[in-house]
Amino acid sequence: LHAKARKQLREAGIATPELDARLLVEWATATTRLDALSAPERIIDGEAVMVLDIGLSRRLAGEPVHRIMGERSFYGLGFRLSPETLEPRPDTETLVDLVLPFLRERIAKNGIAELIDMGTGTGAIAIALLSQLERLHAIGVDIAPGALATARENARLAGVSRRFAALRGDWFAEISGRFDLIVSNPPYIPRREVANLDREVREHDPLLALDGGEDGLDFYRALARGGEERLYEGGAVGVEIGAGQRADVEAIFAENGFRLMEGLQDLGGHDRALLFML
Ligand code: GLN
Repeated sequence: LHAKARKQLREAGIATPELDARLLVEWATATTRLDALSAPERIIDGEAVMVLDIGLSRRLAGEPVHRIMGERSFYGLGFRLSPETLEPRPDTETLVDLVLPFLRERIAKNGIAELIDMGTGTGAIAIALLSQLERLHAIGVDIAPGALATARENARLAGVSRRFAALRGDWFAEISGRFDLIVSNPPYIPRREVANLDREVREHDPLLALDGGEDGLDFYRALARGGEERLYEGGAVGVEIGAGQRADVEAIFAENGFRLMEGLQDLGGHDRALLFML
């Protein structure tokens, strides 16, 4: 199965034929796995082959492998996707790594910590953190109603739904109260560059989750302006940034009274996650 899939994908010029073949075979096998309890193996294989063929033709037509699977793993957890959610990317794990020690400290000090994830999408950032920290509570805010349903489902799958609430809202508009941490991977692609994104990103990730306005920085302004009155004393804002945006984002937060505490680079060596305090 695997060899055949790999060959088809390679011949079609797919960039990662090995990985995609492995993921699609696992997906096809898992999809038909329930039958394994009652049916002999060759029948299961037959079904898996059919499911795999459907997946391969979708992949060859340019659909990203995780959209076909309907799921992508992030921080060791499986996240369901929907048309209104960005696929969680490995780069975003950098942001989770950056804010974990900060939240641990807050919990050690106060017994509990509360965070709000702005533009939560699949809920990946908040849910990954909840899965690591038992005394953490989180709200995920998104303007897309379909994303909220997906985030709730993902919280349930990760076993953290008791500590997660998904709320519809336009950034801080519906939010009251204060938090230990505001975290966000906001849309940060400058509007004129959206058209130059990889076709698979442009056509399958929601534009709403990518378009950061004229210069890509609109939502950092919203976070820096709205953040102050939503933080407890000693609270922080943690954001993901695009390649090359560090200086601009630092300046926006500085204008609003924040100072940079720490930054982390992604595996590609780009500044990717920044942590600010008042
Ligand atoms: N990293 C994403 C991409 O370039 C963009 C995510 C975002 O705008 N927050 O595909």
